[in-house]
Amino acid sequence: MAGEPQDDCLFCKIVEGHIPATIVRETETTVAFRDINPQAPTHVLVIPKVHYENAAVLAAAEPAIAADVLREARAVADEDKLESYRIVFNTGSGAGQTVWHAHAHVLGGRGMQWPPG
Ligand code: 5GP
Repeated sequence: MAGEPQDDCLFCKIVEGHIPATIVRETETTVAFRDINPQAPTHVLVIPKVHYENAAVLAAAEPAIAADVLREARAVADEDKLESYRIVFNTGSGAGQTVWHAHAHVLGGRGMQWPPG
């Protein structure tokens, strides 16, 4: 059921502590941890503890928690003293989404190009 932990979800397992991760922040509703394959000096994933397949579905179902994710993304950037940073929500496989649990990528610490690939 939407919002419930999924047995086959990697990020639900990180939330439950069943898979290790380098956690940098945690709140009642979110967890932030370093990406295992960083694409920038700062590359942190901020996820809601509840399971929704992507950020759009999360925002429709639980807008307050979607706001928590954004607030925590900013807190990660502040902690790493990033003047500029990018918050990315890959949504759908065509956009590069590979893990079907909503997450924000917080990327910073290097120059970036636009448009992204
Ligand atoms: P997506 O491609 O779905 O937008 O992002 C998923 C992200 O999760 C990728 O950047 C990938 O490197 C990261 N990732 C995949 N497996 C793990 C893992 O076991 N631990 C951590 N910390 N990150 C992971």
